[in-house]
Amino acid sequence: MGKVFAAVDRERRREIERAHTATHLLHAALRKTLGDYVKQEGSLVEPGRLRFDFAAFEPMKLDQVAAVERLVYAQVVADVRWSALRRASKRRGPRARWRSSATPTASA
Ligand SMILES: [Zn+2]
Repeated sequence: MGKVFAAVDRERRREIERAHTATHLLHAALRKTLGDYVKQEGSLVEPGRLRFDFAAFEPMKLDQVAAVERLVYAQVVADVRWSALRRASKRRGPRARWRSSATPTASA
């Protein structure tokens, strides 16, 4: 049996991870907007795009689509802030404190 070499395209993998995370955010936002009945029936995640399949009683209205977009976007923005705080806490070490899981605080 010969040797096998494998390699991961890191950037492509990251893009797929982002799409996968987005399906979870989308699922949560759909449940919050349309109701707990929303169940994932399938999905496709690939670099730069995703598809999320679910069954609904009727087509989504524009205001519902906008509400879902706002919810997902708010989570993305929140994570960007968390990521910046995490980077700051690594740089500053023990001076960065986490008051609670909901309220990160970096002391100067
Ligand atoms: Zn998952």
